[in-house]
Amino acid sequence: MRTYQTPLDLVRERSPERPVALVRRDAVAVSARWFQTNFKGDVLYAVKANPSPWVIETLAQNGVSGFDVASLNEVELVAKHAPGSRMAFMHPVKSRAAISAAYFDHGVKTFSFDTHEELEKILDATGQAKDLNLIVRMGVSAEGAAYSLSGKFGVESHQAPDLMLAARRSTQELMGVSFHVGSQCMRPTAFQAAMAQTGRALVRAGVFADVIDVGGGFPSIYPGMIPPDMADYIAAIDRGFNEMPVSETTELWCEPGRALVAESTSLMTRVELRKGNALYLNDGAYGSLFDAAHAKWPFPVKSYRGGGEARELDGALRPFEFYGPTCDSIDHMPGPFWLPEDIREGDFVEIGMLGAYGVAMQTRFNGFGAVEEVEVGDAPMASMFGLARRSIPMPRTAEATNVVRLSRPKGKAGQRKRRR
Ligand SMILES: *Cc1c(COP(=O)(O)O)cnc(C)c1O
Repeated sequence: MRTYQTPLDLVRERSPERPVALVRRDAVAVSARWFQTNFKGDVLYAVKANPSPWVIETLAQNGVSGFDVASLNEVELVAKHAPGSRMAFMHPVKSRAAISAAYFDHGVKTFSFDTHEELEKILDATGQAKDLNLIVRMGVSAEGAAYSLSGKFGVESHQAPDLMLAARRSTQELMGVSFHVGSQCMRPTAFQAAMAQTGRALVRAGVFADVIDVGGGFPSIYPGMIPPDMADYIAAIDRGFNEMPVSETTELWCEPGRALVAESTSLMTRVELRKGNALYLNDGAYGSLFDAAHAKWPFPVKSYRGGGEARELDGALRPFEFYGPTCDSIDHMPGPFWLPEDIREGDFVEIGMLGAYGVAMQTRFNGFGAVEEVEVGDAPMASMFGLARRSIPMPRTAEATNVVRLSRPKGKAGQRKRRR
C-alpha cells in the first residue's frame, strides 16, 4: 500500500481520478489495545464491519486473537490473514457445507444458533462432534441502538430455556449465550438490561452458562451521535456480569465490529459537478456511503482544492447534499454536509469515519465502486480512544438532523471512580 503523510499530500501528488480509501493502521491498533486492556474477557472482532486484509492483520498484530465470522468466505479470509487465530461462527443460520468446512478444514469449534433446527444442523454437519462450543443467540431489546439486529435473529425469552438445555446436553465443551444489543448502541445500560434478560432465561433453564457473549454494538462517534465514554460501556457490562447467575469459570466475550475500525478509514472523493447545494461525487450509496444514504448519517467532511494550488479549503461553510455517481435516485446522501461556500467541480471531499460498514459495503453497480487503498499518517476526524478531539465541530444550524440524539447522563466520571 502506498503511504502519504496526509490526505492533502495525496491530493497534491495525484489529484486522484477515482475514490481512494485512506487507511490508518494506528487507529485500529489503538482501539484493539484499548479493548484488550479494558474489556475483562475475550475480544472477538466481527469481521463483517471491515474485512480488509490490513485490518485483520493489524488486529492480529495488536493482540486480537479471536474473530467472529459469518460466512465461509470470512473463515477463509481470517485463516489466510491471521493464521492460527480462534474463530467463532456466529451467524445463527448457516449452510451445512459452510459448517462442515469450517469445522473440518479450519478447526472452527464455536457456533451460534437460535433454533433447535439449526442446532441439529450443526451437530449433523460436524458428524455429531462432541467438542463444540455451542452458543445460544438470544433476542434482546434494541432500545438505544441506531441499527437493530434483533428483528431477524435471536430466540425469544420464553423459548430460550428449552434451547439452552438442548445445547447443554449436546456438548462436553462450552455452552454459552450471546446477544446483540443493536449496532451503534448509544446507551451503555442496554448491555446490562440484555444481560439481566439473559440471566433470567438461564435461571429458568436451570443451567450455568460457560460463556456470556455480549456481542457487538459498541458505538463510534459521528456528527449528531456523540456516545458516552467507552469506559461506561465496560462498566455497565461489569455490573451486568456481576448480577448474572455465573460461576467462577464463566468466560466473558465480546464481538465489537464498528468500534474497532470506524475511525480508521476515510474516503477521498472528487466533486464531478455542483448544482446549487448539491455536489455530485464519484462515490455514493452503492460505494462506501451506504449509511450516509440509507440511514442518512451526516458524516464529518474536509475539503481540498486539487492541482497545482493544492490546499485544504477553509472559509465560511454552508450545508450541502451529495449525489453518488450511479443513475439511481436512491444514490443520494442528504447530509447536511458542511463545506466551504466556494467548493466547485474538481475539488475533493474527504469523508471521515467510514472504516465500519463503509468500505465494506461497496458494490460494482453501474461500473463504479473500485476503490484504491492508501495509507495516511494523520489522525482520524474523531475518536473514542483519544486519537482526536472527541466532539465533531458542527455549526449550530446543523442541529436539526434526523439522527439519534441522546443526552449524556450527568456525573458519570465520579461514579465510575467509586465503582472500580
Ligand atoms: C454485526 C455483528 C457484530 C458487530 O456489531 P457492531 O455493531 O459492528 O459492533 C457482532 N456480532 C454479531 C453476531 C454481528 O452480527
